Order: sequence, then C-alpha cells, then structure tokens
Amino acid sequence: MNEKTKHQYDQYLIHNYSQPPISILSGAGSRVWDDEGNEYLDFTSGIAVNALGHSHPDWVAAVESQAKILIHCSNLFATPRQGQLAERLSRYTPPGRFLFCNSGAEANEALLKLARLHGRSVAGVEGKRYTVVTAENAFHGRTFGGMAATPQEKIQGGFRPMLPGFRHAKLNDIESFKEAIDDSVCAVMIETIQGEGGIFPAEGHFLRELRDLCTERNVLLLLDEVQCGIGRSGKFFAYEHAGVEPDAIGMAKGLGGGFPVGAIWVATKFADLFQPGSHGTTFGGTPLTCSAAIAVLDVLERDGLIEQVARQSQVWIQNLEILAKKYPKLVWEVRGIGYLVGLGLHESPIPWVQKLRKNGLLTAPAGGNAVRLIPPLTATEEELAESLEIVHRTFSE
Ligand code: PLP
Repeated sequence: MNEKTKHQYDQYLIHNYSQPPISILSGAGSRVWDDEGNEYLDFTSGIAVNALGHSHPDWVAAVESQAKILIHCSNLFATPRQGQLAERLSRYTPPGRFLFCNSGAEANEALLKLARLHGRSVAGVEGKRYTVVTAENAFHGRTFGGMAATPQEKIQGGFRPMLPGFRHAKLNDIESFKEAIDDSVCAVMIETIQGEGGIFPAEGHFLRELRDLCTERNVLLLLDEVQCGIGRSGKFFAYEHAGVEPDAIGMAKGLGGGFPVGAIWVATKFADLFQPGSHGTTFGGTPLTCSAAIAVLDVLERDGLIEQVARQSQVWIQNLEILAKKYPKLVWEVRGIGYLVGLGLHESPIPWVQKLRKNGLLTAPAGGNAVRLIPPLTATEEELAESLEIVHRTFSE
C-alpha cells in the first residue's frame, strides 16, 4: 500500500476494519490490481456483491446512461425504473410485492418489521406476539435488529442490551424449532445458506419441514438470501433447491452488482401489512441503483449465467474436494453449493487467506474456520481452474 493511502487510513479513518496491507486500485472481470501493480484473482467479489465481476461494460453503460437522465428523487415520487426492477424480479418469486432499500441489514430490518406487523395482526397489541426465532451461528447484519437476530458474541459483544423479542434454535434441527415456536412467536428468520457463519446450507428436508411448521403455527417464514441469493447457488434464490415457498425474502449484495441495493419480497397474502407510513427510506430504489440492478438481471439472463454457475460449480467443487483430500490434516471438509464455497479447516483460516493472497488469490475468512471462495457469477472455467491451482500451490508450500 502506498504511503499516502496508509497515512490517510491511519490518520483519518476510524480503525473499524482489520485489513491487509494492500490497497485495491482497479478491477476488471474476475481480477483486481493493487496500487503496486500486483494482480489478483478476486474470489471475494466484494463479499458476494460483484455478481458480474468488476466494471462489467454492460453494467457500466447502463449506469452511465441512467446517470445522465435521473439519479435520485427519493420515494416522494414514483419512477419507471423502480417499477421495472420489481416486475423483473417478480419473474423469480411466487406472487408478491417488493420494497427497496440499500443493504442486507436494511432488508432484514424491513423483514423484522413485517414480522411484528404480522404478530400484531394475529394477536393484537395485547397478544405480545413479537418474538422472532433465528438460527444459531446465523448472521443477519449489524443494525440493532440484525445484531439481536445474530446470536454471536463477536457481533453482540459490547452492544448489549439487545433488542428484545429474539430466540434461537439449531439450524437443520426441526425439533429445536418446534420447541422454540410458542404463542409469542411471529416469525422464523433464517439464511437459506449461512454465509458469514461458514457456509452451512439449510438442508432441503429441514426447509420443507420448517415451511409446514410455520404454516401450521401461523408464523412467517422469512428467508435471508442476502448472500446466497441472485444466482450464487446456481438458482436465482437458494431456497428453490428445496422447492419451498417462503412468506418473505431479504436480498441485497449481488442484486446491485456493486451498487448498494437491497430489497424485500413479501408474498401477496402479507404484502398489505405495510401501509403508507409503515416504513421508508430516502435512498431505497433510486433510478440509478435500479438501473444497475436491471443491468445485472439483463446480463444474468442474456448470458445464461445462473445455469453456467450450476454447471461449472459442480466440477469446481468436485476438484476442491479432491484437493482437500490431499491435505486431510489441514482441510476438514468442503461446504457449499454453486459459487459460494467454504473450505472448512482444522485451524484458523486467516493465515491461509493471507498466503492465498500472496499467491494471487483473494478469498475471505468465515466462521467454522472456513476459507470462503466467492467468485463472480461471470467466472470462467479457466478462472475456476486457476483458483484450484493457487489453492493447491499454497497448501503444498
Ligand atoms: N444477511 C446476510 C446473510 C449477510 O451475509 C449479510 C452481510 O454479509 C447481511 C445480512 C448484512 O448485509 P449488509 O452488510 O449489506 O448490511
């Protein structure tokens, strides 16, 4: 990292992130370059954001042309782009409606507000039906709602007391959810694939049983697809693998392809719980961010990227498993699906993330001692093969 950037970070930025000593200057496709000219294969994708890789020309052209017409006018007024994006997204969901925001945490906040509105509509104010059940090891964001939904000391520590009305159960253990859901519960919120927690998918049979349980007890099933959604699992939403229908979904990250865009989808039956004044955001769904998201959908559809992720990831994951077997003392298991994969290590992933970076591959650590590989959805077979070669070389050193 050059001295000037280092000085500015030391002097003027709150020391809130622990970052490696490099500074990224530019990116194109699956690659980025630091300010010393070093090239990296970027399998972090800005934590699952850069669905089309860096500076995809079609995304850039869409944003550039929209920026010349209208950038922002707030939700005081309707704009065609927001309507278009909702219509385009509705092709991937059951019947329902969308509300836009700016991030994953905000999408989940909106889901939590929906949950409380539902609880109140079922039990009335006196009914005190406002508890949300989330999974152990979950990650739902760092707002007060998100933190309360995230039962992890590293997230909650220092910020207690947490928002009341949360309870936790074990992912993939339906009995534990049965126990947790009593008359005070209005919703269950889980990640379809736990991302920050270390790439732990909710199993298909568990999701189906959870769906039935939620319906039976009149509790909303809210799926956090912030990290695993928008094609990353090889389907548009990861829950599609299980063949269930949630009551609401939170999404963000890949949706904007690099712009802060978040959204919730709510099934028709519950969409009217929100009324004018229930919720709001100044920035959510600006014409500029919506045009970025539409560009993401255009390219995903035109280039058949989701099918490509499903196809190419199978070979890649198989090869990662073969590779992992060569290093049984280091790698415990390969977890994940599509382009959201974790190498579960027997030890801290952080030194390995550093070594991989020195060898030209950017990865992200996650819980469960995972080295997380999150290629852009545009990553080619050659780039996936290159990642295998770098992982192999790094582990063998
Ligand atoms: N939910 C999940 C599953 C996430 O992975 C994240 C971020 O990593 C969030 C919520 C929070 O999203 P954001 O960082 O955009 O607020």
